[in-house]
Amino acid sequence: MANDAPPHIALFPCAGMGHLLPFLRLSAMLSSRGCSVTLITVNPTVTAAESDHLSAFFAAHPQIQRLHFQLLPYKKSNFTNEDPFFIQMESISNSVHLLPPLLSTLSPPLSAVIADFSVANAVFTHLAPELPIPIYTLTTTSARFFTLMTNLPHLTTHTQGEDNNGYVYVTVPSLGRTPLSNIPPPMLEANHYFAANIISNLSSLSKLNGVIINTFDSFEPEAIEALISKEKLALVPKILPLGPFESLETDAREDNNLPWLDEQAPESVVFVSFGNRTALSKEQIRELGNGLLRSGSKFLWVLKGGKVDKDDKEEVGEILGESFLERVKSKGLVVKGWVNQELILGHVAVGGFVSHCGWNSVTEAARLGVPILAWPLHGDQGVNAEVVEKVGLGLWVRGWGLGGGEKLVGENEIAEKIKDLMGNQKLRSIAMEVKEKARLVREANGSSEMLIRGVIESLKNKG
Ligand code: UDP
Ligand code: UDP
Ligand code: UDP
Repeated sequence: MANDAPPHIALFPCAGMGHLLPFLRLSAMLSSRGCSVTLITVNPTVTAAESDHLSAFFAAHPQIQRLHFQLLPYKKSNFTNEDPFFIQMESISNSVHLLPPLLSTLSPPLSAVIADFSVANAVFTHLAPELPIPIYTLTTTSARFFTLMTNLPHLTTHTQGEDNNGYVYVTVPSLGRTPLSNIPPPMLEANHYFAANIISNLSSLSKLNGVIINTFDSFEPEAIEALISKEKLALVPKILPLGPFESLETDAREDNNLPWLDEQAPESVVFVSFGNRTALSKEQIRELGNGLLRSGSKFLWVLKGGKVDKDDKEEVGEILGESFLERVKSKGLVVKGWVNQELILGHVAVGGFVSHCGWNSVTEAARLGVPILAWPLHGDQGVNAEVVEKVGLGLWVRGWGLGGGEKLVGENEIAEKIKDLMGNQKLRSIAMEVKEKARLVREANGSSEMLIRGVIESLKNKG
């Protein structure tokens, strides 16, 4: 019998803050729109940041249920990748068969599951036969990078020679050109875990009920169109650009850097961060430090010495040297450890963002209207930088980092580009337009908002 019982949705994130944060945000968004929500949390987590954020999240959202999922001990087999985040993905995939019995006893009965794309195939394979409910996937990358992933393993058959500057491009229908150097090399090696994982997750994609992407129509029109063409051919399920995700409203975390920002002039500070899992080399850190000093802008720099926070114990002074810190004093702030990036990007003193272009960072800069100097280094970041450049939200220097191998970018070049970023009125006004469009899609009649409400409506009575 039909009733209007709100749906109960379980969300299952994979490893790393870059995956956890969008899941926390989507969980809170579904909950505030009337859904019952269960968040599946694996034990152990890779980083301390993940366990800290989970505790704070559940304290702030007592209405959201937590389902602890103990992973089986990781067995090293013929699997050779040492990246702790990939090892975690593998551990999750190897433990997922234990999940269906836990989910089938949840109360009220589940209406749907949203699984991280990185573990989507494992979830589908084990869950679908046991629990006949809709399964959605959330991809934590851009629609653009996701489109390229859906073209594996045949992506390079789209290669179309060089342009005038000697760049080899991959051309995907509707998406246009992507420099081959922006495609992470491990994605083109079928035997590499990176590619193998994507190909395996693509194998069940068309059987899922939808792909949720933290993006919005006017931000990635070509990629969304490319994906919708595939949807029409039933190659991918319903495309759901539900972004930009809202920040966690109940997140009362303060940030120690706000008092310093309060003292700076509007739009005078450049914020520098390369995300949670990317540490620059010692030499590159030195050049960046000198480049920031030369740029003439005030700066707030989040320094990272190692990939996983638990192992990253060196102090700022040990990494940069005390004499450098002496020179920095009146010009900037260099910090280590977790900062509240959204609060910082939203501060009036911040006028630019030097970013590795992790997709969460890009969407936050879009929502808060902060121009980006894109410095992608790994994985999807180069393709995300293309989105930043295309939409006009920022500058992207080809050949820095990704695709440029281990090329060291010198302090003068860094200083010049930061000057370009901070002095560019056109970028700033486009960033404000992007911010306004990002706000409008979240209004009651906005595209992302209507889509999320439609999904929730369709899941009523599915439990
Ligand atoms: N973040 C933060 N404080 C930090 C480091 C990161 O708040 O000190 C947040 C940032 O706002 C973003 C996420 O962590 O939401 C990082 O995700 P992203 O996709 O940008 O990069 P990744 O860390 O996955 O490379
Ligand atoms: N990805 C994937 N399988 C992998 C590795 C990555 O599907 O084995 C996707 C995933 O959606 C991720 C994106 O590619 O968001 C970028 O990968 P990366 O490892 O850089 O993820 P990050 O932790 O930085 O978000
Ligand atoms: N990767 C990433 N962030 C990191 C480390 C790696 O996005 O902090 C990406 C990297 O660019 C590559 C994939 O994850 O696309 C696998 O990385 P790994 O270092 O294991 O492989 P390699 O690049 O050494 O072949």
